[in-house]
Amino acid sequence: MGLLQVENLSVDFQTDSGIIPAVDSAKISINSGQVQGVIGESGSGKSVMALAIAGLLSPAATMRADLFNLDGHDLTRMSPAERQKLISSNISIIFQEPTSSLNPSLTIGYQLDETIRFHGGGTRKQRFEKAQELLAQVGIIDGKRRYKEYPHQLSGGLNQRVMIAMALACEPKLLIADEPTTALDVTVQSQILDLLLRLNEEHNMALMLITHDFSILSETTDKVYVMYGGQIVESGRTYNLLSQPYHPYTKALLDSVPHYGMHYKKGRRLFNLKGSTPSLDHLPVGCYLGPRCPYANKKCVQPPELRSLKGRKVRCHFPLLEEEN
Ligand code: SF4
Repeated sequence: MGLLQVENLSVDFQTDSGIIPAVDSAKISINSGQVQGVIGESGSGKSVMALAIAGLLSPAATMRADLFNLDGHDLTRMSPAERQKLISSNISIIFQEPTSSLNPSLTIGYQLDETIRFHGGGTRKQRFEKAQELLAQVGIIDGKRRYKEYPHQLSGGLNQRVMIAMALACEPKLLIADEPTTALDVTVQSQILDLLLRLNEEHNMALMLITHDFSILSETTDKVYVMYGGQIVESGRTYNLLSQPYHPYTKALLDSVPHYGMHYKKGRRLFNLKGSTPSLDHLPVGCYLGPRCPYANKKCVQPPELRSLKGRKVRCHFPLLEEEN
């Protein structure tokens, strides 16, 4: 059985102007040791879906799911307190901007110690040793010195390593990394990705990478989910999906990325998907991509279902055939 299985996950936000559907009928499954990616533009619902899985939604949100199994436990049958306990001891999440996730007025050591205490604790000496072990695991060699320092004394890359160390304190079975490298310099980005992949291998920990960068997904993930307007519009094995997208939105995203090296073609114009991502409180009728889709047809005023196609899931009435790619 998979580590995490979620079906028909929906998240709505209650606002002054009405209910906003941020995630609509998402289906996710991930096994131990797998690396999966979620991609989409800002506002596509990928971060809200991650927060829902990690049990960190704000009180303004309402979440529903037909199935929510974690490590063999059915979360839909648990009380909120039981659910929260199970999630917090099995799932960790790190975010894009480590310096805003860390408290600037507290030392790294204090914040790490607080997290270790939350997840079981031990004596002060044991917690200190655990903190040093976690800092070493994430490649911070001078852990004793860093323990006494404040976040502003560390670089962005080191702060992200500290966040990863804190995320490892509960020995998670699933680590969700929401744009973990976006705020970092390019060379530091690859170090953090290498670290996440090493931890994934060493601990057989599942890793869910949320990003807007296809190059990260192509190098790291086994499976990709593409999100648009709060819905998963395509999912499948990474190589297949990137080399032959079936959904017009996946194709548009891929065609708008510059190519380098052997794929570089002089004079090639990048594809520009017209319009912008729909506001979640004013979603179009029928297919949400309809007003922007170059392949739209009158049938597209009917909402497409997510259906299976050659080992892939695609939400489109007219999935692209090979010759259209
Ligand atoms: S259903 Fe229609 S509008 Fe939507 S992606 Fe497919 S072709 Fe485009």
